[in-house]
Amino acid sequence: MQKLEQLYEGKAKKVFKTDNEKQYIVEYKDDATAFNGEKKGTITGKGVVNNKMTAALFAMLEEHGIPTHQIELLSDRECLVKAVKILPLEVIVRNIAAGSLSQRLGIKEGTPMKKTVLEFCYKNDELGDPMINDYHIFAMELATEDQVEKIKDYALRINEILQKFFLERNIRLIDFKLEFGLYDGEVILADEISPDTCRLWDKDTDKKLDKDRFRRDLGGVEEVYQEVLSRIKNTEN
Ligand code: UDP
Repeated sequence: MQKLEQLYEGKAKKVFKTDNEKQYIVEYKDDATAFNGEKKGTITGKGVVNNKMTAALFAMLEEHGIPTHQIELLSDRECLVKAVKILPLEVIVRNIAAGSLSQRLGIKEGTPMKKTVLEFCYKNDELGDPMINDYHIFAMELATEDQVEKIKDYALRINEILQKFFLERNIRLIDFKLEFGLYDGEVILADEISPDTCRLWDKDTDKKLDKDRFRRDLGGVEEVYQEVLSRIKNTEN
């Protein structure tokens, strides 16, 4: 398999074509952005952590019956994936109030939600990824009713699996963002699951082990990314 020309460069990853038109190579960068690109920086080693962590989590999710785009880890920063068409939706799952939910609804950060909260945002940087609901999705033809049902079902199942997985590593899964793509007409999990896309708090101390350290200038950013990866790697079964 050969790495060919770059197809796309995003905020944290590059995507390359390969000699197989149904496969892409994703390359993870150390670049970090927050607040819709207003804050920019570098988190040294982040690309390696996010690549390895996503690979470990996607492999585990596959074992639990969740289809993903992942084919195989190629190197520290590269992964071979199925060439999906990404649906323009960010799917956010929340167990505990934090971030924009706390601000919008006036619920103190750290308050457990009585029921898991699912949110959709329209993936559009110019508009700042506005929150939308099912009606907007169908009216704008961003996804079909069947696809949205699948996405909701997968997102809630992924939440159950990940909550348990992280708790076994003394981490509480506060919230996270997923993206799905279409491959041969089927919805599959794509993008990444990493400290860039999850809020992860130490179970005993509530220490933030995620990108909020970068967003909020809390320091020790590089260290917590390494810490999360080592907690995952040291307890792999
Ligand atoms: N998130 C993400 N990408 C985004 C927006 C949110 O990965 O473009 C993740 C974020 O890391 C957090 C969860 O989704 O784990 C919920 O984020 P929230 O809506 O609170 O937005 P934020 O406070 O991060 O702007």
